[in-house]
Amino acid sequence: MTLIVEKFGGTSVGTIDRINAVADHLKGKHESGESLVVVVSAMSGETNRLVALAKELSDTPVTREMDVLLSTGEQVTIALLSIALEERGLGSRSFTGAQVRILTDNVYGKARIREIDDHNIQAEIEQGNIVIVAGFQGTDEHGNITTLGRGGSDTSAVALAATLKADECRIYTDVNGIYTTDPRIEPEARRLDRITFEEMLELASAGAKVLQSRSVEFAGKYKVPLRVLSSFEPDTGTLIFYDSGEHMEQPLVSGIAYQKDEAKLTIRGIPDQPGVAHRVLEPISSANINVDIIIQNLGADGATDMTFTVPREDFDSCKTILENTAKELGAAEVLGDSNIAKIAVVGVGMRSHSGVADTMFKALADEGINIQMISTSEIKISVVIDDRYLELAVRALHKAFGLAEV
Ligand code: ASP
Ligand code: MG
Repeated sequence: MTLIVEKFGGTSVGTIDRINAVADHLKGKHESGESLVVVVSAMSGETNRLVALAKELSDTPVTREMDVLLSTGEQVTIALLSIALEERGLGSRSFTGAQVRILTDNVYGKARIREIDDHNIQAEIEQGNIVIVAGFQGTDEHGNITTLGRGGSDTSAVALAATLKADECRIYTDVNGIYTTDPRIEPEARRLDRITFEEMLELASAGAKVLQSRSVEFAGKYKVPLRVLSSFEPDTGTLIFYDSGEHMEQPLVSGIAYQKDEAKLTIRGIPDQPGVAHRVLEPISSANINVDIIIQNLGADGATDMTFTVPREDFDSCKTILENTAKELGAAEVLGDSNIAKIAVVGVGMRSHSGVADTMFKALADEGINIQMISTSEIKISVVIDDRYLELAVRALHKAFGLAEV
């Protein structure tokens, strides 16, 4: 018996027509012999509508009540979808997070799942019923309703699939899969048939957002095969799979991701001694600013330079903090540039091949693009460049690594 968890996002259940289409789709899957657990989001726009209502009453609505409020969005969808399935003569049962018993911690608005009791769901599956579960919500140990953070239905689906040891978790969304790069920049970008969890996470951290990152981490940890597909076109989408290392032929590079809206800061001529990196970065992390690529160089005559990137929106406040630190440490100067972009090539094949970095640097050099910073992980090479050349760089790299070809 094949057990599948299917998740439908807000646009996929955004109207009664769409809900009918989802019900028809599920009927087909059910008739083909799959046991189905279905996770749904609120109808598109509904969560935002509810947030706006609360904001009319208070600038800082009580977090417990926000979760009571927001969880209603998903509760509407589970009931409507279940009604649509029953109308088609299919047995179906809807469950809120609390009714399943998706147990979470008590951090309202961004709760984490601790445990899922799958008794109720298993009983319905054994009866041959289609189970519909409200995404994005759970309950704490005292029965308070909690929500998992925006976009949290992806995580609900993956967590259920892990608990139920489902054969696959399918995430239906408004794109038909994961691409080699952003098709808006490179029209020849190709939809990938498969990609590993590690690559998906690196692509996400480099700016490619299709799934909530937490859901991908979760799926990787529990080895739940995850498939991203479009709910509007019948297709196989992209499979995100756990790489056991047995696959001989791994693509060298699977994709190219980028992030605009970054900025870089340099503090120069810091008297070099143990603890300076800490003293530079501590006040920045205390201000909740996320530092990404960090480069430190030992300069001449016992002084060091440090350069790092931050989100562009934090540039001004970070520069002020850094200028204060520079005074305290007796550093020479602080420089900043808020017109940069980060671009990364990602691929598990890099592990066993040399020369990937050089291919990347040559492709950029051939276009006359200057590389300002370089950072690598086992399966990712990131560079920082002037943001004016971002699109050119994406296209050049896509070509250099032959990503348009199958
Ligand atoms: N309805 C929630 C949101 O809009 C959860 C989700 O869609 O995944 O963020
Ligand atoms: Mg969503």
